[in-house]
Amino acid sequence: MKVKCPKCEEIAELADDFSYVRCSHCSLDMTYGEYVKYIAYKDSTYSDILGDYTSTTEGTTAGTLDDW
Ligand SMILES: [Zn+2]
Repeated sequence: MKVKCPKCEEIAELADDFSYVRCSHCSLDMTYGEYVKYIAYKDSTYSDILGDYTSTTEGTTAGTLDDW
């Protein structure tokens, strides 16, 4: 699915199984766990996006957090 790139704010792609986030505009290529961590340090604009993901993908997010 499409997500906002935390680096260049263009459209990045999040894998359907949340395994990676990639952006063709700035060559961003990180795991979903790294992506969440990355946007956690950004301004609060991204908190809304993060909130949406956590509410719709509770199981997946919990599993990803264990890998940190
Ligand atoms: Zn980008």
